[in-house]
Amino acid sequence: MTRIAFHIGLDDTDSPRMGCTTYIGALLVEKLVALDCEFIDYPNLIRLNPNVPWKTRGNGAVCLRVTCENDLIDRIKETVLEMVTRNSDLEYAKTDPAVVFLKGPVPDELTEFSKRVLQDIVTIEEAKAAAGKSHAEICLIKGQRGMIGALAAVGETLRDDFTYEIIAYRMPENRATPRMVRRESILKMDKETAPLTFNNYDPRKRRILITPRGPDPILYGIRGETPEILKKAHQIVVSDEEIERWVVFRCNHGTDAHLRKIDQIRKIRPHSPVIVSGVVSSFPKTIPGGHIVFKLEDQSGFVDCAAYEPTGDFREIVRRLIPGDAIEAFGGVREASPKNPVTINLEKIKIVKLTSKFRYLNPLCNICGKRTESSGRNQGFRCPKCSKTFPINTRISELEQRNLEERLYIPPPRAHRHLTKPYSRYGFEKNVDPQPPSSMWHYP
Ligand code: ZN
Repeated sequence: MTRIAFHIGLDDTDSPRMGCTTYIGALLVEKLVALDCEFIDYPNLIRLNPNVPWKTRGNGAVCLRVTCENDLIDRIKETVLEMVTRNSDLEYAKTDPAVVFLKGPVPDELTEFSKRVLQDIVTIEEAKAAAGKSHAEICLIKGQRGMIGALAAVGETLRDDFTYEIIAYRMPENRATPRMVRRESILKMDKETAPLTFNNYDPRKRRILITPRGPDPILYGIRGETPEILKKAHQIVVSDEEIERWVVFRCNHGTDAHLRKIDQIRKIRPHSPVIVSGVVSSFPKTIPGGHIVFKLEDQSGFVDCAAYEPTGDFREIVRRLIPGDAIEAFGGVREASPKNPVTINLEKIKIVKLTSKFRYLNPLCNICGKRTESSGRNQGFRCPKCSKTFPINTRISELEQRNLEERLYIPPPRAHRHLTKPYSRYGFEKNVDPQPPSSMWHYP
């Protein structure tokens, strides 16, 4: 019997009130192993463009990649479709679950399609065309929307940078209750495994980040560089509730895979996450809600950049920018509204070149040592004590301390998107062929 490669993509099964596509993936791991499937990769958890207007929640899709006997394919498909139908929130209007099946190797054109879904807006027609060209089979359970993500999950083989996440799931009876995970054990885990794990904790707000808050089945998810460090981290964390199952996923979390470099500001389009260079052209101002906004320009045009309130202390950095500073802005692009122009929602900034800022002072009187006063605009100065006058060119200019460095600035972990690359990952980028899963990577 010959075994063939078989890829299963899932997306859009959840809603704000229940479910989670990763959980269906985790349930399917157990089922597929029982059907004699052999996993050729960890289950892939792919976060897609976080700026699409219609995303359900985290905008994450899942792909399972196995080898199996050719004549088991129909059984596998049935099992998958039944599981997705049973565990999706089908009554929720905007939930349109989709499953994609692909036999054999992943064609390059499907991988290219996935890159576009990560960085741009893709239509259902484009998804249908990509599926047709790559001989992928699309199964819809309700509407069509989910096919884009399910297809993108199959195509995104994570050959560039990637990370892992271990996700532990709750028993069904506990899902509406507060999560019982010991805080001090999470802090211990962070201490013993970071920076090989990341975004466990936000030190400033002292907030635990591995446990979600909603009614979904996830107890916690720990992100890191290797499956081994995640299993170690998982053993350090102490829960006072039973864990139903856990799985190690391979992901694009913390890789900045959504951001695409744009060479001119005028080419920026709404909903596409960008990296763009420019010069600050207005003083940052604080707008209602505590957000900070400034203008960035290059020869081609200008765009508003905003550091929103949840980015916390990052706003302090942005507030110190002045016209003339050369920066690189990273972030999602919001479309223009009646009140606001097109705006980059800053996920990070890189200060490339700080401009010199001078402070001007009136000279001191050389007789009495008093600070002189201005005699009027462009009029020079006059000593208030002895009345000696001084010409305008005696004005003193001092280079002002900027209290900023020419480097990258990233908001605190609590404000990160799933895809945002945190400080701790710089230098850990991978571009190696991933290893097939080894030893224990799921339970049961
Ligand atoms: Zn004087």
